[in-house]
Formats: sequence, structure tokens, C-alpha cells
Amino acid sequence: MKTQVIISGAGPTGLMMAAQLCRLGIDFVIFDKKEGITTFSKALGVQARTLEIYDEMGIAEKAVNEGQIATNFKILIGGELQGGFDVGSLGSKKSPFPYMLILEQFKNEALLQDYVLSYNKSILWKHELVDFEENENGVEVVLKSAEGQEISISAQYLVGCDGASSPIRKKLGFTFEGETFDQFFYVVDTALEWALTYNSDIHVCLAKNTFVAFFPMKGEKRMRIIGMLPEGKTDKDNVQFEEIEAMLKREIDIPLKMTDLGWYSVYKVHTRMTNSFHKGRCFIAGDAAHIHSPAGGQGMNTGIQDAYNLAWKLGMVIKGFANETLLETYNEERLENAKNLLKSTDAIFEAEAGSGWFTSFARVHIFPLFAGFLFKREFVKKAMFKLISQTGISYDKHSLSQDDMPDDKINAGDRMPYFNFEDENGQNQSSYGFNQDLQFRLFYFGNDNLQNIVSHNNSFNETLQRLKIVKIDLDKNRSIIEEIFGEVNSPFILLVRPDNYIALQTSDISVNKIKEYLIEKVGIVHA
Ligand SMILES: Cc1cc2nc3c(=O)[nH]c(=O)nc-3n(C[C@H](O)[C@H](O)[C@H](O)COP(=O)(O)OP(=O)(O)OC[C@H]3O[C@@H](n4cnc5c(N)ncnc54)[C@H](O)[C@@H]3O)c2cc1C
Repeated sequence: MKTQVIISGAGPTGLMMAAQLCRLGIDFVIFDKKEGITTFSKALGVQARTLEIYDEMGIAEKAVNEGQIATNFKILIGGELQGGFDVGSLGSKKSPFPYMLILEQFKNEALLQDYVLSYNKSILWKHELVDFEENENGVEVVLKSAEGQEISISAQYLVGCDGASSPIRKKLGFTFEGETFDQFFYVVDTALEWALTYNSDIHVCLAKNTFVAFFPMKGEKRMRIIGMLPEGKTDKDNVQFEEIEAMLKREIDIPLKMTDLGWYSVYKVHTRMTNSFHKGRCFIAGDAAHIHSPAGGQGMNTGIQDAYNLAWKLGMVIKGFANETLLETYNEERLENAKNLLKSTDAIFEAEAGSGWFTSFARVHIFPLFAGFLFKREFVKKAMFKLISQTGISYDKHSLSQDDMPDDKINAGDRMPYFNFEDENGQNQSSYGFNQDLQFRLFYFGNDNLQNIVSHNNSFNETLQRLKIVKIDLDKNRSIIEEIFGEVNSPFILLVRPDNYIALQTSDISVNKIKEYLIEKVGIVHA
């Protein structure tokens, strides 16, 4: 069997990788040792950045309809409401999805699986990776089916989306350093009877030695409960659900009754990451490259972003549009992102669950005093949304970013800002309405008729099919543009990458400038 890309593992990361390769028209084989998509709820939080990608694929509306938008975050201590804030519009005007969606992992996987199947591609379930070797032409991979039959596949590239114990990461010799927290955590999906609100409110109950969080799920009175087992509980298999129920009632001082128990699990929290995402023709992505506490609901979303970052680069190299050096930027960008992610999830986790005397004291005595004040501040809300929603990720210091206007509020390497503008026909358009085909796009902010660029546009055909040009008239849209970019004194352009990050920001409106960028930074052949 021959293909262009082999994807090992069909969790959310592998399925997103497959989905993006479908969009790009790249041939692939995806397989997983499991029988099918997960049946567990596992990851629950779907962040704005993931929904923005779903939107390009035409599956965001379905995701939102099948999930539950979280609208309020409420903090309780000793059964009393201490404060809270609105999270339903936290990212208002910053994203078409200014909230966190609660949608179980199995529903996300089902959406992605359906998307892949809609391209007449199949997923080889019950096939396990046996071995792989890289040679000068590509990678040879050996799989074993459930019936014991061995299958050899050759491909140009291999992507290991094979989870935290990734055999591919191990064989590549990458490290996975970090730590495992001593205490055990539990997760319970259940219907719940209590006097507090349901539907869309997240409740977090803080106590000196612990915390318990309740996340609303779609369905009658359904909740996800997450908390910590008391210190000293070390034998995972000996923790009964009844013990957890009793402990929960004791600790948070809120009368409640769990009925219709769904998924229940006890687990340990790790914080670990790889030292590399890429070697030769092999890559790793998702939990294979980084694992951390569930604080902030980042894990599944980060795997999805890894796949999205790598897919367009693989697409350009496989189609012969760009040199292989482009693939090195995957490691450069996503390794740093993983480092930042571990720092932020560790910090949130320490505040929620740390057992040091100061953290315990601050959690119940200091934090509630300031929470109400802090969460009313616009800058705090903005910073929180940027961090949790993953819309604040920036590659501004990296080799694909070139900024000739560094003093602006937006830098090359930032995600393309989301805004609405009036087009030349007087129609209202979204800056996010132009990326159905995963191509580079050119946003021109000015009043000229763009002859200079448009007349030369054909020269891009060979490498970029057509460079889509979006003109944003400054006279008609000045107030929104200045709100986002700062004062604008002259026309400028943004060249935007297929994954919606700004590649080039410059006031030099010329074809040569764009060609120079594409050749030097992206390694485009024949620009
Ligand atoms: C209780 C809990 C709550 C969580 N909450 C959140 C949340 O709110 N938000 C969030 O973003 N994340 C959350 N996460 C994390 C999230 O579940 C993971 O980050 C996500 O599953 C990672 O996806 P993945 O595809 O990278 O890896 P996985 O889902 O682990 O998939 C890897 C796949 O590779 C397959 N595989 C492994 N080895 C082989 C082999 N040799 N051959 C073939 N196939 C193989 C496995 O069968 C598996 O299907 C949570 C996790 C847990 C457990």
C-alpha cells in the first residue's frame, strides 16, 4: 500500500489531521488500535480557536447545537456564593465564538469522523502500529490487524497522534520529561439534584484542602463533576464511587444527590512534554507531545491546533509548492506553544488544587475577596479569554513571521483579528469569511484600486493556485480598523497563512515584497 501521509492514532488529534488533509486533497491512511471513536466524555471544553477551525470546515453550527455554551462562572465557599462572572460573552467582538462550548470528546470525535467519511476516506480501526523505519524516499510502516494480518504501507511522511504513551515518540528517541502529581483526581458524569442552577452555569466550590468543579452538560440536569481525592488515597482501583459521593457532600457543604451515573473515573494528573515534535519524515502531535492537568480545558484543543499547524505545511511540501524547510517551523512553533501551555496549566492547577499553606489560605480567604473586583475589569476578561480560548497564541518571534510595522497593536505571527467590515458593494463581511480552501490570503487596507497587485496576481498561480485578495477600504472602515490595529496613516497589507496567522505585515504594497517573503521565509518554489 502506498500513500502520502500515514497517521497513527485516531483520537481528536489524528482525526483533525485527517480532516485537514481531506481539505487539502492529500492522500493518507489513518489507523487506530481501538474499535472506534471513544465512548467516554473525557475532554469537555471546546475553545473558541477550535470552533473557528470547525467553522471553516462547516461543522461549527452542529457542534454548538450538540453542546452547551457556558454562560456564568460561579465561585462558592462553604456552600455560599462568593462571586462570579459572565463567561458567555467573555470574548465578545474577539471571535465569532466568544465563549467556551461544553461538548464531550466523543461528540467531537464523531463530528470529525463524519467529516473524514464525507470525503469517502475510511479509518482503519483495530489496526495497531508494529514498527516503522525511515529511508531516503519516505517511511515504511508495518501494522497488524485484529486478525493478526501484517500490512506494510509506504508513505512520504508519518504523523504520530498516538497519545501519551506514543510508541512513535519513544522510537524517535524523544524525551517526555515532567512530573506526575501525587494525588488522585476523579471525574463523574451524572444527573444531579441540587438547589443551585443548571443549564449553563459552571460552579467551582473552593475549600481549604480541595476544590470541586461542576460543569453543565447537555441533557436534563446533567453535570460533569471534577475533584481531588483526599491525600493518602493511593490505590486507584479501591476508590468506590459511593466514597466520592459521601466526600463531596461533606466537603462542599451543598445538599445534592447524584442520580443516573454515567462515566466515572479516577486518574492521576501529569505534566510532561517532549523535547521535539519532528525528526526527518516523522512528526508527533497532541498528547503524544504534551500532557498536563485538565485545568482550563486545553488538552484536546491543543492537539487539534498541532494538527492544524502541521497539515497545511505538509500539504505545500507534498504538492511541491514549498521546500522541506517549511516543515521545521512546525517544531519551532508548537514546541514553544507546549512550553507556554504547561506553564499556564500548572499555574491554574496550583491555584485550584495546590496544598501549600499559602495557596490553601489564598484560595478560600484572599481570592474570593478580589474575584468579583477583578472579573469586572475589561483587561482581566480580555487576558483570560485570550489565554483560555487559545486565540492569544502568537508565533510573532518565529521564522515565518515578518513585521515591517512592529509598533502596531497587532504583530506578524498573531492570529488574524476577527472583525466585520463593509466591502466594496456595501455588504457586511467577516474577516474570517475567506478561508474555506486553506490558502494564503492577502488583506489590503487602503483606498487604491490595487492594480499593482491584481495585474501581477497570475504569477502566483503556479505555487499558490490563486492568492485570494481581500480589499478593506480604509475610508469606509477606519474606526473598526483603528480600534484593532491602532492609528493608520498609510495603506498596509497583511499576508495571512492558511492557518489564519499573520505571515507578513507591511506598508510596502508591492508584488515583489510578497514574493520575497514567500521565497525567503516560506521556501516557496517558483514564486
Ligand atoms: C478526565 C479528562 C478530562 C479532560 N478534559 C479536557 C478538556 O476539558 N478539554 C481538553 O481540551 N482536553 C481535556 N482532556 C484531555 C484530552 O482528553 C486529551 O488531550 C485528548 O484525548 C488528546 O487527544 P489525542 O488524539 O492527542 O490522544 P488520544 O485521545 O489519547 O488518542 C490517541 C489514539 O492513539 C491510539 N494508539 C495508541 N497507540 C497506538 C498504536 N500503537 N497503534 C495504533 N493506534 C494507537 C489510541 O488507541 C488512541 O485512540 C481531558 C482528559 C481527561 C482524561
